[in-house]
Amino acid sequence: MPLTETTSCIVCAYESTYTDLMNMVRKIADSFLTRYLFKKEETTMSRFYIDCRDYPGDVKCSVALSADTKEELLEAVIQHGTTVHGYENTSEFRKKIVTEFKEGTPPA
Ligand SMILES: [Zn+2]
Repeated sequence: MPLTETTSCIVCAYESTYTDLMNMVRKIADSFLTRYLFKKEETTMSRFYIDCRDYPGDVKCSVALSADTKEELLEAVIQHGTTVHGYENTSEFRKKIVTEFKEGTPPA
């Protein structure tokens, strides 16, 4: 027996209810989708951070730096790295530190 026959029987018997239900489901799905898409857009605008606790070295440091852009974060890291950790502001250091940037916000 084709599946459509069974389905149409149910649809006939509950036509108005079924249509209303489908409209409701569609509306809910739409609002969920909208919310999901907006939420997704929000989360893709993430921040970048670097957490000194991930790099235990000579200097015990628990500073976490974060910024909206990698450029801002790089400037902050260079300032912090050169003054607190005694790093030299070289192009190698800049290149290396950028690869260590993580997306999101530093863990508490
Ligand atoms: Zn530090």
